[in-house]
Amino acid sequence: MCIRIPKGGPMEQTGPHEMHGARQEQGVLRAIRELVFGAEDGLVSILGLVTGVAAGTTDSKMVLLAGVVGAVSGAISMAAGNYLGVKSHIEVLQRRLSEEAESIRRYPDHERVELINYYRERGLTSIEVQTIVPAVMRNQAFLMEEMAAHELGISPGELEAPASKAFWIFTAYIIAAVFPVLPYAFFSHYLAVRVSIAGTMIALFGVGAAKTVYTRRSWLKSGIEMLVIAMAAGLLGYLAGRIVHL
Ligand SMILES: [Zn+2]
Repeated sequence: MCIRIPKGGPMEQTGPHEMHGARQEQGVLRAIRELVFGAEDGLVSILGLVTGVAAGTTDSKMVLLAGVVGAVSGAISMAAGNYLGVKSHIEVLQRRLSEEAESIRRYPDHERVELINYYRERGLTSIEVQTIVPAVMRNQAFLMEEMAAHELGISPGELEAPASKAFWIFTAYIIAAVFPVLPYAFFSHYLAVRVSIAGTMIALFGVGAAKTVYTRRSWLKSGIEMLVIAMAAGLLGYLAGRIVHL
């Protein structure tokens, strides 16, 4: 018999199989988050850039050039910043994990008390704790996972390779930049400005709506929110371009 436990409950991850499934789902959600993060920034900052340049010059080649250079340098800077940030975050977590492993090795009694207190706080009875704690203490890997999650608050996904996150952000940024930039390759200047803004708005709404896969908010509100923020950014870029009119 299989007892379904409601999501978000204290024992959401019941068996090894379900635990694996839940982790895979978390991995996919994290990948979507990196994609949204990169796309959001690519759309907003490149729309601001090209609209600003387009307000300063009617030469579409200039706008295209600025857009392409901005897209590449923006994507590199976002990916590099994310890579370094995640990497140092992981280094800190790994140091704390190795300190914890050392503590488990040197002071097992202290760690046993921690575990007992933790399970008691979670509402297990003394008898249940007496059964579980020795079993966990015998299993080094399990014990480390318990300590990482409950004492240090580290989730397994936090230790994922920083390079893959940076790659997704880079890719999403470049693809997103196509929406505001590409119209300047095909349309006359004034039409290109309109198509660029309209296309970017649609893409932004889509990204805002897609975000709800992990934020679980209303897709309509999330899409509109993204649109409003981006339009404000585009307007500021445009105004900057007007001020330094060539
Ligand atoms: Zn501990």
